[in-house]
Amino acid sequence: MLDVRRIRRHFDFPAAGRVVTNNAASTQPPRELIGLYRELARSYENVHRGQSSASQRTTDAFEASFDTIAAWINAPSRRSIVTYRNTTEAINAVMYSLLTEFRDGDNVVTTLMEHNSDFVPWYALSREILPRLGRRVECRLARFDHASGRLDLDHLADLIDDRTKLVCVTGASNFLGTKPPLDLIRRLSRDSGYAQPSGENGSLLLVDGAQLVPSSPVDVGALDVDYLAFSFHKMLAPFGVGVLYAKEHLLEASLPFLYGGDMIATGRVSPDRVDYNDLPWKYSAGTPNILGTIVSAQALRLTLDLVQGGRPSWFGTERPIPWETVASCMGTVSRHTAAMTELARKRLRDVVGLRVYGPQPGVDRSPLLAFNVDGFDPFWLADGLNEFGVESRAGCHCATLAHRDLGLIPPASCRLSFALYTNADDVERATEAVRCLTSRGRRRTRARADDAGAR
Ligand code: PMP
Repeated sequence: MLDVRRIRRHFDFPAAGRVVTNNAASTQPPRELIGLYRELARSYENVHRGQSSASQRTTDAFEASFDTIAAWINAPSRRSIVTYRNTTEAINAVMYSLLTEFRDGDNVVTTLMEHNSDFVPWYALSREILPRLGRRVECRLARFDHASGRLDLDHLADLIDDRTKLVCVTGASNFLGTKPPLDLIRRLSRDSGYAQPSGENGSLLLVDGAQLVPSSPVDVGALDVDYLAFSFHKMLAPFGVGVLYAKEHLLEASLPFLYGGDMIATGRVSPDRVDYNDLPWKYSAGTPNILGTIVSAQALRLTLDLVQGGRPSWFGTERPIPWETVASCMGTVSRHTAAMTELARKRLRDVVGLRVYGPQPGVDRSPLLAFNVDGFDPFWLADGLNEFGVESRAGCHCATLAHRDLGLIPPASCRLSFALYTNADDVERATEAVRCLTSRGRRRTRARADDAGAR
């Protein structure tokens, strides 16, 4: 059980009376992390680019962050961890790294439930980029079942064939909440018969972990994914840092997405030959987001602290994090946010004309509910919620394909989403506001109709 009351003391938003139920967009930063920026400023220096003690301290802290991030997803070492600005940039980096490898007639299989970050790059690759290079590559989209939100695995299996270079799938949808079965999808992709240039058989598997990693334990070794992308701004850290995990041999073999300083082996640049740096720095051209990366890794350590109590290994006293500790911590987070999601669903049950998208109660899902209420514009609802102090999101949440597929025109829904600091009172206030707005709206519509009838 989470001690949510204790956790909330680390954040400023409860005292401000905010009901933060837009956590699938970004989570709130704990006070310690904001303070950490100030602490880091005491040895403010670039990394890998100075001989001062300050530069060495910053470099050590920066490099250690990669170990912490690797431990969080049970990656074998920092060599498989590359940082970018966000999930979107990480997925684009995969696309550009593989650009030279796609052969005429290959395909990429993704799904209709993807965030635009995991569809538009593949659309651009197949429709804009490779055609200009004289290669024809198809982007195929697997369907989902409208009633249950489940990914249609038969359709996915039909789409994957021996020309499927890559399968890209969300680990947890940010609209439907669906968590596709990654073990089955791994099997389908491995058995595709595609011959990779490395000599390996099978399609590569990329998982968009933007919603999955913040809400559950993710063990990249057990899942055997080739690529996993996620963003720290959904995991208590400030904006600006995302991660690409990739299997080491893929990072060794493929070409970087960005070229320049620091991604080269020191001194090994001549007009005729450039040698790249060791992993993961081969993928770190130019000055990275140094403070953001350090603070993001500390956000993971702080999450352990918040969930398990105590301060086991905060900045400057870091110890390795065993995978079992992460798994237990994220298991606790996952149970708590699932309970908040189910509570919200229960409280919304009697709202007339309510339609919640995605899996039915009891099915493992991302901790969010996207819904529409017949006769109400989702933007009007979200604006109304804001007046009650409840933060939500209306729109298509960048899951435009899924909204269109469901026939939602305009493609929009209202979404409430939860985090480890959400308490039952937040859920109560958010759902009561939805009930209040919709019943008040209906009374007004009826009164106007009665008026018109009387005239
Ligand atoms: N994929 C999913 C499933 C997401 O929810 C998001 C963020 N809404 C993204 C990708 C993109 O993340 P970012 O904006 O951090 O690149």
